[in-house]
Formats: sequence, structure tokens, C-alpha cells
Amino acid sequence: MRGIQNTISKIKMPCPKTIFVELTNICNFNCVFCPSHLMTRERGFMDFGLFRKVVSDAKDCGIERFNLWIMGEPFLHPNFIDFVRFAKENNIKLSLITNGSLLADVADEFFSLTFSEEDELLISCLTSDMYAFGLRKTKKIDYQSYEKGIYGFIERKLEVGSKIKLKIIYLINIISDIVDIPGLIINTEGVLKTLDTWRLFAEELQRRYNVYYDYQFPNKSEIKKSIRKKMSLTFEFIPGVYFDLKWLTNWGKVILPNGLKVIPAEYGYCAYPFEIIGVFWNGDVTFCCDDYNAELVIGNIKQRSLLEIYNGEEIRRIQSEINKGILSKKRCQICQGIIVNKDGRILRKYYKKYFLERIYRHFKIHGFRKTIRKIIGEIKGQYLRI
Ligand code: SF4
Ligand code: SF4
Repeated sequence: MRGIQNTISKIKMPCPKTIFVELTNICNFNCVFCPSHLMTRERGFMDFGLFRKVVSDAKDCGIERFNLWIMGEPFLHPNFIDFVRFAKENNIKLSLITNGSLLADVADEFFSLTFSEEDELLISCLTSDMYAFGLRKTKKIDYQSYEKGIYGFIERKLEVGSKIKLKIIYLINIISDIVDIPGLIINTEGVLKTLDTWRLFAEELQRRYNVYYDYQFPNKSEIKKSIRKKMSLTFEFIPGVYFDLKWLTNWGKVILPNGLKVIPAEYGYCAYPFEIIGVFWNGDVTFCCDDYNAELVIGNIKQRSLLEIYNGEEIRRIQSEINKGILSKKRCQICQGIIVNKDGRILRKYYKKYFLERIYRHFKIHGFRKTIRKIIGEIKGQYLRI
């Protein structure tokens, strides 16, 4: 038996096909819906030598795609273009992200690089108008210049015929009573209003370049349906340019309105330790892309290879605990915790949801009989102890 266990522990786990790589955790915005302002870890830029090591290690692990972000604004990196060029020379598929503020400055250099249709750049517009733009808390750029920079960048892509996909990202807040951020899109009308702006832009391009784009914007009932079903709303509206509506998250219960707090969960399950790998700007490796403050570090790529870290004792221990339903990391306990009000009571609205979630998790971990005992215990008042 011990022999079998030894053999299993020696089998190398394949890395995920995609890796998150943080070029910097510095940002020129300070969005209220981002935990950037809560970050206490050191801020800095990844150096080029380290990036080369990440690329080389990632290739050894069979990683095919780089998401060049965890926190921060990657375009702020002074060598950003060199990093992207190097990744492309090494046949890495790229997903890039930007808050869009620097696009006007880098457009020429950026489009001098050769991209494929599998590369994408997510432009995080996130807020839909001049007033909501205030949520991004920046003095570096005003809304008019911001908007103009993004429009100009899209035009440049069309002019040079770059194959990289551009995705214009907006946030919709459908959990407004958990994340209290007025100003974001919250309903179908908000989405329609935002789409109108882009429809006008697409029409203007068609007029100016005397072309016809055979794309349909979704109608009201399609938008309603996707919001109700929490389905993604992504569609192409200019060749190679997509609209993409994303759901606002509370970053694993980190961004909460005043007065609400989280009771950490004792147990739960998360697939991330089996599916995610990320490298921070300083070489620390994490297994969670929401690990904004680097609390889930399992090694540093300067000391060991990515494959060794991904098969190291630390991650194996975490995976084995998660398989038993145990959350040993404080960050995960908060992420999977229960939201309560200042008196420590679960919000009535979420009571049923969390009760069912807990029962479900308990059933998965402990089986039927123990779950029935747990339910009886909870009904008898154990639950109120929270
Ligand atoms: S959401 Fe993006 S742009 Fe806003 S503070 Fe966070 S990293 Fe910066
Ligand atoms: S913090 Fe932990 S539980 Fe939450 S998503 Fe990340 S790995 Fe999963």
C-alpha cells in the first residue's frame, strides 16, 4: 500500500494549459470594485530575465496560453511591448488586459507586433458613462480622452488589419445588495444604453470607411434572457471587435458594503488548486487568480521550476485537503465564508442559499447519515451560533 502511495506521489501532475502572469501590480486607476487599494504586498515590475524563465518553464510544462495579468495595469510596464514580442516569438497564445488609459500612447508600437486570431486584448471599460467613470478613481486621464483613446485604438487595428481580437468589457452588477456600488450597469436598460454608444461608433466607422458590417446587436429580450440566466453576453460588432458583459464579483467576499462581514467557512470545495497557476511579478507562484494579496503562494519560480512547484508538497497538501473538503488557507475560508450583518446574523435573503450550500457540501464530504444529523443539529439551533 505504501509502495502504491509512493508511486502516486511521484507521478508528475500536468500543469494547466493556461497560466496567469502578473507583469506588475501597480495601477494608474484605483477602481472601487477592485481590491487593489487593499493590497499590502510590495508593488513592482517583473524583470525581463524572470519573464524569460516563466516562458521557458511554461513551455516545459506544456502551457500554451499566457493571461498577462493578475493585478495591476500591464501596459504600465516600461518593457511591455518587449514582453509581448518575446512571448509571440515563443509561440505563446496571449490574452492581454488593459484598463484602456494608455492605448492612445502605444497603438503604433503595439500594432507593429504580429498577432494571431487566437490572441486577444481585453479592454476593461467596465463603467458605462462619464459619471460612472468616477468609480475608477483616477486623475491620470479624463473621460473624453479615455473614450477617444479606445476608439482610436480600434480604428488603428482596422487600418493595419491586425488579427488580435479586441474585447470591450463592461461590468453588470446583479448582486447589488452584496456589492453596493451605485453607478454600474444594473439592468437591461443600462446594457442597451451602453450598446447604443457602440452602435453609433460602428455606424460611424461604416460611413467613414464606406464598408458594411454584417453584425447584429442583441435585442432587449436577448439581453434580458442572458441577465436572467446569468449567461455571458459576448458578440462581435466590428470585425475582430467584441462586446463582452461580465458579472461584477466581490473578489471572494473581499469587496463588501459597510456593515456586512464574513464568517470564514470551515470546509468547502474549490477547483482552482487543480486548475489555476499564476506567477506574480516577483516570481511567487499562486494557485488562484483572485489571490490579489499573494496569500496562496506555493513557491517561487526563481528557486524552483514551475513543474516542481506545481508538483511540490505544498500544493499537493492543499489539493488533498480540498479533496476532503477542508479549507486550510485563511483566504479560501473567507472566499467560501458566509456573509452576515453586523450582529452576526446571516442576511435573511441568503439564509436558504447558504443553508442548502452547506448541506450540499456536507453531504459530499460526510455522506447521507451524518448530513441528516447535521440538518437536525442546525434546525435545533446550532446554526444560530454563527
Ligand atoms: S480593476 Fe483594473 S484598472 Fe481598476 S484598479 Fe484594479 S487593476 Fe486597476
Ligand atoms: S480564494 Fe481559495 S476558495 Fe476562493 S477561488 Fe481562490 S482558491 Fe478558490
